[in-house]
Formats: sequence, C-alpha cells, structure tokens
Amino acid sequence: MKYLSGFVLFVAAALLLHNARQSEAACGYESCPKTKSNMINIHMVPHSHDDVGWLKTVDQYYYGHKSNIQHAGVQYIIDTVVSELIKDPKRRFIQVETSFFAKWWQEQPETVKQVVKKLVNEGRFEFTGGAWSMNDEAAVNYQSVIDQFSLGLKWLDETFGACARPRIGWQIDPFGHSREQASIFAQMGYDGEFFARMDHRDKNNRLDNLAMEMIWDASDNARDALRVLTNLPEGEFESCLQLNISECAFTQDSADNVVVTLFNPLAHTSSQYVRVPVKEENYQVTDEKGRLVASEVVPVAWQVLALEYRQNTTQHELVFKASVNKIASYYIKKVDKVESKEIVLPKAAKKSVKQNEKNLEVPQRFKKVHSMQNVETHADDDSETVVQTSEIKLVIDNNTGRLKTVEMNGVSEAIDQNFAIYETYESGAYVFRQKEDVDLKFLEDKVEFTVYDGALVKEVHQQFSEWISQVIRIYEGVNRVEFEWLVGPIPTDEDTAREIVTVFDSEISSNGVFYTDSNGREMIKRVKDKREDFNPDLGRQPISGNYYPIVSRIALEDSNKRIALLNDRAQGGTSMQNGQLELMLHRRLIRDDGYGVGEALNEQKYEKPLIARGKVYLILNSVKESTKVERVAEKEIHLPFSVFFSKGSSQSSSAVAKTLPSFDDFPQSVHLLTLEPFTDDEILLRVENFLDHIEGNVVSFNIRPIFDGVGGVAIRETTLDGNLPLSEMKRFKFHHDASGHSPAEVEYFTTAHKPLAAVESQEASDFSVTLHPMQIRTFIIKKK
Ligand SMILES: [Zn+2]
Repeated sequence: MKYLSGFVLFVAAALLLHNARQSEAACGYESCPKTKSNMINIHMVPHSHDDVGWLKTVDQYYYGHKSNIQHAGVQYIIDTVVSELIKDPKRRFIQVETSFFAKWWQEQPETVKQVVKKLVNEGRFEFTGGAWSMNDEAAVNYQSVIDQFSLGLKWLDETFGACARPRIGWQIDPFGHSREQASIFAQMGYDGEFFARMDHRDKNNRLDNLAMEMIWDASDNARDALRVLTNLPEGEFESCLQLNISECAFTQDSADNVVVTLFNPLAHTSSQYVRVPVKEENYQVTDEKGRLVASEVVPVAWQVLALEYRQNTTQHELVFKASVNKIASYYIKKVDKVESKEIVLPKAAKKSVKQNEKNLEVPQRFKKVHSMQNVETHADDDSETVVQTSEIKLVIDNNTGRLKTVEMNGVSEAIDQNFAIYETYESGAYVFRQKEDVDLKFLEDKVEFTVYDGALVKEVHQQFSEWISQVIRIYEGVNRVEFEWLVGPIPTDEDTAREIVTVFDSEISSNGVFYTDSNGREMIKRVKDKREDFNPDLGRQPISGNYYPIVSRIALEDSNKRIALLNDRAQGGTSMQNGQLELMLHRRLIRDDGYGVGEALNEQKYEKPLIARGKVYLILNSVKESTKVERVAEKEIHLPFSVFFSKGSSQSSSAVAKTLPSFDDFPQSVHLLTLEPFTDDEILLRVENFLDHIEGNVVSFNIRPIFDGVGGVAIRETTLDGNLPLSEMKRFKFHHDASGHSPAEVEYFTTAHKPLAAVESQEASDFSVTLHPMQIRTFIIKKK
C-alpha cells in the first residue's frame, strides 16, 4: 500500500491547474479565473510571510514595534490586504500563518469579520499552509509539526469552515525540506507544497532540466500519527527545570519526605531510571504500595559542581529505577547513615572550581576505580579499565583515558570516542563554513577519568580539557550507553570561532553510507559526497556539504555490525570517515553569516558565553538484529517521564490514573501520539505504528475501551490534522512524466481504507483499528 506516492511539490512560482472541480462552493480552485486552453495559464497571487518570532517577538512582529530591528508590522499588512481586496473582485491573496491571522481576527469588529468571511467564501482571501506558523523542517520532530498544524487548521475550520481549508503547503522560508514534511502534508490531504529555498546546485540543475515541479515519493512505508495526557493528581507540584545540572531547590531543602510523581507519556508501561538531586547520602525509596525500591546515591560530576552560577547545596543524585504505566509516585525518606565517607576531590581541579568543592564527598560504596593521576607511570598489563553491567562492557584505555571498546548485544567493537574542534571564521547562525585547509582538531591531551562503580549505575567521569568534560553511564538493565557531555564556555579569538563535535570512531566498514532520521520518523540513506538528484560538487565545503539534520538518530553499518547514535536534541551530524559518526554539540562564533540574523552566534548567560550540556546514546548491535530497539529508545528519549515533586503526604496517584483509559492492550509497536481535548465535548486521539515494514508488521487492536474510558458517544476518523473527515479527503493524483499515464480527467487520491465511524450502540468489533507499518490514524471522539 503506497497511497502517499504521487505527492507533488511545486517549486515554481505558479500553480497550473485546469478544470479542477473541487466542490460546489465557489472557493478553492473553483474560484480561480477561467483558464484558456492550449496556453500556459499563470496565476499570480500575492502572499505574505512573517516569522512567528525571529529577530523580534511575535507581538513586536504583529504590532510593528521595534522597526529599527526589522520593518515588519503584520496587522497593517492584513488591514491593507482586506481593504485592497474589497476594491477589486479579481484580486486574490493567500494568508499562511494562522497565529498572526487569529490575533488580527480577535481585534476586528463584527462588520469587518463579515466582509472577510465573504472574501474567504468567494476564494478571494485564501489560506495556504495554515499551520500556526511556517515550521522549520530540519530540526523538528514530526510530532510537533503535526500538533501545530492541528492547531492552525482547527482554528480555520471553526472560524470559517470548509472554504478556509488549505489545499497547498506553503514552506517558502525553511532552509531545506524534509521528506517527512511532505508526507505529513499528504496525510492531511494537501495537493502539493510550494517551497523556495534549496541547494543552489539542485535548483540550477532543476532549472536546466525543467524539473522545478516534481512528484515526491514521501515514504518508504505504507501509511495512512503521540502525545500526552495532561492530567495530574491534585496537589502542589513542583517541577525542577535545572535537573540537567542536578539543581532542585525543592529536593535540596526537603529531600527527607519527598514524593516524586512521574508521568509517563508513552502508551505502554515504561521502566526508566530517575535521578533526584539530594544533599545527604542515605535515603530509602518506596513505591505506592510501600515496597522498598533499590536506589543508590551517586556523586555529581565536579565539573557540574564547579559551575559558578550553580547553588552547591546538593552534590549527589539519588538514582532509582521507576516503572510507570501512566502516573506513579515514589517516596523518598532519609535514613540513618550506615557508611563512612571518603573524600575524593579531583586532584586536577581546575582554577574554575570554587573553594567549597574541597569538601566534596562520595559514599564509600563507590569505588573510585581509576584516575589518570595515578597511572601516568603505568604501562603494564593494567592498561585498561573495565566497566560492566549485565548487558554492557566498556573498556577505557588508561593511556588515553578514552573509551576504547564496547561490548553489548553479543557484539564487540573498537569504538574510540573523542571530542574535536572545527576552527572556523565565516560560520554563522545559518551556515557552518569551515576554513579551507584547516582540519578538524581532535583533543589530544590525556583524559583524566574516575569510575564510580555502583550497583545500579556505573559512571566514568572524564575531563577532556578545561572546558570539555563528560560522564559515560551504563545502567543495569538498560541496553544503551549514555554520554552526557558538558561543553563551554568555548574560547574564541579575533579570527577563530570554534565549533565542537563529538566523534565516535569504529572499525565498521560503512563505505561512505550512513542513515539519518527525517523529523524523528523514517530513516533516509545518505552517501558521502553524493546526492540522489544532482552532483553536489563539495570541493569548497567538503564537511558542511555532508552535514545532515539529526533530530533523533544517525547510524551506520557493515555486513556484521551496526552503530546508532541517538540524541536528546536536534543537531547537525555526518559520517566523514568509514565507521565514524559525528555530531555537532556546541558552537561559538565571531561573525554574522549575512543571512539575516545580523549578529554573531555568541550567546551569553550569567555574563559568560554559554555552557551546554546534553546527552548522546550509543547502541551497538548485530545487523541481523532488528533496529526496533533503536525505535523504542528513540521514543523513551524523546518522551521521558515528566518528573514532579511534592511534600510527603501519602496521597496515591493510582486513583487518578484509573480514571484514564488504559492503553495496555495496544500492540507494543503502537504509539499513543495524541490524546487531548479537541473541543469542549470532543477528544482527539492519534495512534501510530512506529515500526517500519522491516522492523514490524501490520497490527490490529480495538479502541472501544478507550472510547468508553473517555465517555464517548460517537467516533469519526479524520485526516492527520484532525479537522477534515477522512471520508472527504480528496487530493490530486499526479503522475510521473515517465509513467505514460495521461488521464483525460482529474484523478484523486482518497483514503485507502474505510474510515472508522461508529456510535456508542454499535458492536465493539466496529471499533477495530488496523495500522500498517509507520501508519498514523487520527480520530475525534465525541463525548456525552
Ligand atoms: Zn521566515
């Protein structure tokens, strides 16, 4: 099943359509001026685009404030568009960003609203795109794209009805275009997409070959989309926004008798490790039933404690493994000290370490296994340090202090992980532009490291340079290696900016081929120095020309082994050498790149250049094994438990959790993409089979329990955005030139399956849902 194939992208400035009859209403294509046959008819339609926040805030753009920064005032554009449209019925305008239009609409008197409704119904004022904003396509997760389209299209539908439903995607400003975005448009029933920015070589090639129009096969999988419940138990909840540097005022002051409430946004029960900043060393964790949960206290890396703006009242993290279906609470209590202390102040404490870290204490059960300070003269058989859980064995080279070998999933591979620096000059916010003849500089100093060998977690704390450090972690029962990096402030000087990457070097012979995700969903094959449709000629920019957006995953393999890196944020990434994967972590630049932002990328916080911290995860596997584990890990990383803290009353969250429908009966590959209020008496439900046709199968399940669980009386299926009944979806079917097919009449794609529609009195079997690999289905449940 491939009903997405045949999705058309127009790159030209005009949409050419003949005799297209959409509906009886005189809006849409029907309202276009009459075309003349045997001629190319070009319709010129003015449009506007303004960013929903870029150089100025959304409100500054809308009201036209701060014209010195950028001359833009969206309200005046819409005002004048409306008055000009009224003057001449032949005039047309297309509006793209619904957020700006909705703001304008709110401020209009009823008379103006009536005029605009008429313009919309006559097809003179038309919406294209129609999402809340024109989203970026490189660095965003598909889930967010779907959500913001749902919001924009819903507003249009509620305000104007069918004539405001966009038929064309309008992505003229994003710097590059993703296959997933095209696929999302198709699943929302759009006929095509316009875009403007693309690789100039690709564009020239298309101009030469009259290929500015193209049909994009937007998916490798058959198809037809998660998100979260927002309910939480009553009570005073505190979330801590700086848990990444182990800072939480709440637990710092009251780690004795703290309730940790965890919300799991995934459909299925998930087991994840939770880390809570604590002051002392001895705690006891119990679950809602009062059962003791294994826990241990781990020292926070001294480089984190040394951050000047961090309050250092907590120097440890309490680690425990939580298993959560939807919502669960865990109780933390301080207990009597049982162990004595050992002081392990890092001897190489840099000048940035403040005085009070001298008293840093680590519980004795953590063996400080190794430190480079002590091995400089060692060159004997003690040249490696092994760190191991039941699943994973890591070997650290004592001479370099870096990772040397990884063993997991029955596979062993030499993997050297290091940080490296691009010294650049002309790079900017939009452009990564290396200096010619300057190679990537790998860090060469010996890495100081310390191993903390706990029962639940093993940690290797590494110091690479004065401003680069890392903690490598492996948890008992978790089949991936975590690298938590800390980079910055990056030093720069007059003519050298610096851009920092992490590099994983293996002996896997990947032959220049690697795989990157498209908006966190399907994987796309990349070949170094190559493009599918044109010759990229990367002579001048060999590195950046091979950089791709990595929203969730980059991988490579040979006939035996595969390594995948998963990230916690969108980054640039590449594979410049066989067996090597690279991710850009942090950049500090000295020049504006001339593409509009008008300043160098050199952000400050606490009056210092930024320090960044994030995580990269490594999975090593045999190629014979399914990449399903990567998909599951991707979901856990993208949608981890939300962590809330409250004071220690023993209020149970299970009562609240019971009022929510159960998703336990979903097949394991089914992801609950969305379950949220749609209107006052409707709920939007989206389910996705997140495995592809190689990793998984067609799955069927019944959603009657969910329908009943939310008090449903009727259910209907819609396009991906939730606003158009799927039975009404009808988008143009285009044929490749080479297909030899030239239909006499306009052909349409309609839904490939019978849309689900049912009411309360029907049999449970009428609520059965089948999902093909990677398919997303969207439903609106009407409540009592
Ligand atoms: Zn823009």
